[in-house]
Amino acid sequence: LTSGLESAWNKLKGEEVLTKENIVEPMRDIRRALLEADVSLPVVRRFVQAVSDQAVGVGLIRGVKPDQQLVKIVNEELVKLMGGEVSELVFAKSGPTVILLAGLQGVGKTTVSAKLAYYLKKQGKSCMLVAGDVYRPAAIDQLVILGEQVAVPVYTAGTEVKPSEIARQGLNEAKKKKVDVVIVDTAGRLQIDRGMMDELKDVKRVLNPTEVLLVVDAMTGQEAAALVTTFNIEIGITGAILTKLDGDSRGGAALSVKEVSGKPIKLVGRGERMEDLEPFYPDRMAGRILGMGDVLSFVEKAQEVMQQEDAEELQKKIMSAKFDFNDFLKQTRAVARMGSMTRVLGMIPGMGKVTPAQVREAEKSLKIMEGMIEAMTPEEREKPELLAESPTRRKRIAQDSGKTEQQVSQLVAQLFQMRVRMKNLMGVMEGGSIPALSN
Ligand code: GDP
Ligand code: MG
Repeated sequence: LTSGLESAWNKLKGEEVLTKENIVEPMRDIRRALLEADVSLPVVRRFVQAVSDQAVGVGLIRGVKPDQQLVKIVNEELVKLMGGEVSELVFAKSGPTVILLAGLQGVGKTTVSAKLAYYLKKQGKSCMLVAGDVYRPAAIDQLVILGEQVAVPVYTAGTEVKPSEIARQGLNEAKKKKVDVVIVDTAGRLQIDRGMMDELKDVKRVLNPTEVLLVVDAMTGQEAAALVTTFNIEIGITGAILTKLDGDSRGGAALSVKEVSGKPIKLVGRGERMEDLEPFYPDRMAGRILGMGDVLSFVEKAQEVMQQEDAEELQKKIMSAKFDFNDFLKQTRAVARMGSMTRVLGMIPGMGKVTPAQVREAEKSLKIMEGMIEAMTPEEREKPELLAESPTRRKRIAQDSGKTEQQVSQLVAQLFQMRVRMKNLMGVMEGGSIPALSN
């Protein structure tokens, strides 16, 4: 999508204003880029029309570069297309809030059920999960295990009871226990079929849910529009959850949901871990589609794990080239804690995809580094120069941590390299120097 859009902007370089004529070619690129990103055709048509109308409307404003103007309009229209604002979950005024999850098989309903419970628990709400997928015993076990992981009770009634009956029992149980939110997981099929729809209708009738969220795999592509439309007409949904946004999705589903159903995407899943569920931010998604990278999400995530003071402290140290092994440890641990590094790196513009094997490799080398740093004296940690100067010290650390002297030397060299790299990154041009380790 990004490269297609770039060629659209490039076609406007050198133009003075946006006109009906000079936007024809760029709009064709935008249209093609959207179609390639699996946005459904009717949505693309309406989008292109909206952007064209806007663009020609502002065509007379002089002094603003037309390509920037078009980027801005496309961005605004993308945000609008995806609902504009963040759509919060709705909670019941009295009694438990009931959230019913629906969707095709394998899209991530069961995972989302547990993630959502975890997400709401962090907001101070008590939750209960209901195992409503009676077709596969494994599905019940899966929810029970995930429920244990996030320490949320799971109501099960085996595979012999009708889903609507399980829903009724589960809801009663939740009322008895006075939990704030009941999340009901349901069965999915590979394709939309009558049986699934009728069953969901029964479950919905029994529950009278506050939210009916359609779980959509971000990789769904073109079919997302039809899928959302059908579920909305048949069951009546209140919103959607887009899963697997960490994959190679081209974003088409994200752009179609609101436009075809009038219902917003409320949350997105970005990985297999329980932490990987976030609100859906239309403006960030638009930025991501336009190739600016999901920088805001990244910054937020980084701040969560690294306290503000820590970050400022670190920045000062980097500026003054005092970055030592304590900081090194703090920083590498913070990165590890950011969870799936794949995801974090994927958010940085210009970073390629990182494979799970690379992530495991990085985690392994963090372990090794930790061992060596722990074997250092406090003084050595604060003054890495001591280690650069003294082979005896390096030898002692190698012995104490069970690593080779070469590994210790590498670590020391790495710290100095990092000092230089970070200084450069901060825009301090003189950088530092990397000492040669004495033997
Ligand atoms: P269900 O059939 O709809 O209940 O789907 P599941 O919850 O069982 O998920 C199917 C598979 O997708 C599992 O292997 C999940 O770990 C995986 N999955 C779910 N959500 C995500 C996500 O956001 N990202 C990634 N990468 N995998 C996910
Ligand atoms: Mg399931």
